[in-house]
Amino acid sequence: MDNNKLLAELLLPGIDKTPDYYEQLYPQRNLPEGARVTRVAPSPTGYLHLGTLFTSLINRITATTSGGVFYTRIEDTDKKREIEGGIADIIGGLNRFGISIDEGFVSENREKGDYGPYKQSLRAYIYQCYVKDLLRRGLAYPCFCTAEELTEMREKQERLKIRTGYHGEWAEHRNITYAEAKRLIDEGKSFVIRLRSSGDESRRVIFDDVIKGKIEMPENDEDFVILKSDGIPTYHFAHAVDDHLMRTTHVFRGDEWISSVPKHLELFKILGFRPVKYGHISPIMKLDGDAKRKISKRKDPEAAVRFFAEEGYPAEAVIEYLMTIAASDFEDWRRANPTSDYRCFKFNPKKMSVSGALFDNNKLNDVSKIIISKMKSEEVYSLLSNWAKEFDGEFYGLLTESPDYTKRMLAVDRDGARNARKDIAKWNETKEYFAYYFDRLFSPEYSLPERVTPQDARAFLDKYKAVYDACDDRQSWFDKIKAIAPQIGFAAETKEYKAQPDSFKGSAGDLSGVLRLAVTGRINTPDLCGIMSVLGREKCINRINNYIDNI
Ligand code: GLU
Repeated sequence: MDNNKLLAELLLPGIDKTPDYYEQLYPQRNLPEGARVTRVAPSPTGYLHLGTLFTSLINRITATTSGGVFYTRIEDTDKKREIEGGIADIIGGLNRFGISIDEGFVSENREKGDYGPYKQSLRAYIYQCYVKDLLRRGLAYPCFCTAEELTEMREKQERLKIRTGYHGEWAEHRNITYAEAKRLIDEGKSFVIRLRSSGDESRRVIFDDVIKGKIEMPENDEDFVILKSDGIPTYHFAHAVDDHLMRTTHVFRGDEWISSVPKHLELFKILGFRPVKYGHISPIMKLDGDAKRKISKRKDPEAAVRFFAEEGYPAEAVIEYLMTIAASDFEDWRRANPTSDYRCFKFNPKKMSVSGALFDNNKLNDVSKIIISKMKSEEVYSLLSNWAKEFDGEFYGLLTESPDYTKRMLAVDRDGARNARKDIAKWNETKEYFAYYFDRLFSPEYSLPERVTPQDARAFLDKYKAVYDACDDRQSWFDKIKAIAPQIGFAAETKEYKAQPDSFKGSAGDLSGVLRLAVTGRINTPDLCGIMSVLGREKCINRINNYIDNI
């Protein structure tokens, strides 16, 4: 046996499969021409981050637009940094925000699809098979340098003003023989496996990034680590093997990986894989004063996707908003297709911002208000009560005590309304917004409209009580108020009052303001007649009486 084959057997004795085996086990996907296979590959080292949701959306919509497949892969090679519940939060978050997963991890403990396992820690034997093949072909070798030796080397390079790294003549173990490796292993030394790079720093790699366009960089010439001492691959190696065997066509990922592309393309080449197409996504930015900066996991609560769930933004609103920052042509499409599902939008990565989309909370609120305003009361009931169940138990109790009452409350200025009000952006605003519907939350301040004295208010309400009928429609409801107005010195019509302000104390509008304050404690509300009909006679009369007693 030659040196390379002996090394391969020495370093990875237990691996008996060859790459051909996996090539056949994971055949090309049978998809129509042009279908794109995409994935999101989160590391469970933290919770679902806005950037990961955004990346997932881009990958998902790319697969959808092309009739392809979107899958998830858990990149858990860094066991030290893994956090408990990370996978559940990430996959659960994708599910919650409606990013449907065709394959891979669909929940914390369940994966589906023919290209698995979809968790890197369960794929060690696959990576090792490809590493062994490289060893046999003389394209990889073991390195026994300790961390201290590597630091020393780097310091020396810095002193000599040489590019740091394990390359060229600095690659200590590049020409290690089988005998030497065997001796070191017998001494109990641990080793990593490095790529024997054939790259040359003076040559350029050129690739076409589907978002950022043509990118040119020096070739990689570093003998970088492909397999760590624990037998687990580095990200670079796992990426090449997994995306090849899972038959990924397009990798949309954070642009912090751009500088690694020369390494990745080199790996694809020496492994004999057809390279994937890359699209590098700039980070989502935020305005901090006048300066733009990356959204930060440490400083910004909205960096964690859970924040949007807690605040009670409907998933649909968050996704709709992310689509507007993902694609510069999305809003035009939305105007032309106001009722279509966003998934029907044909996504073109060339329309993505190269410099980083700006996250604008006000815009998100506006988008969300429009979306909520279009929902029917049944849908609002279901989303709102689900939210409250998770995040506000007291409110959940109130909302579900009488579902019929709550649904009638939600229908005011909504179902059947020509212009539904756009004043709710997220569910955590609704407890305050709807407080007057619930005696337990109703705490009026007993104030008066500007032009109305307590005596006038009392006189009006006494007369109103006598004619009030909970079944009045909007017209007769207001007609009754207008009929009382002249009896106490108010104009029935606003324009009458405006024409002769000295002849009246105010107008019927001021008197409906009295009624509004009495019944809801607010100066502004949606349709008061509708509100009173939901509240019912008993609550309305009680509140009017309390108001009369307290002003
Ligand atoms: N696990 C890598 C990360 O979380 C994935 C990058 C990729 O999509 O390839 O950054």
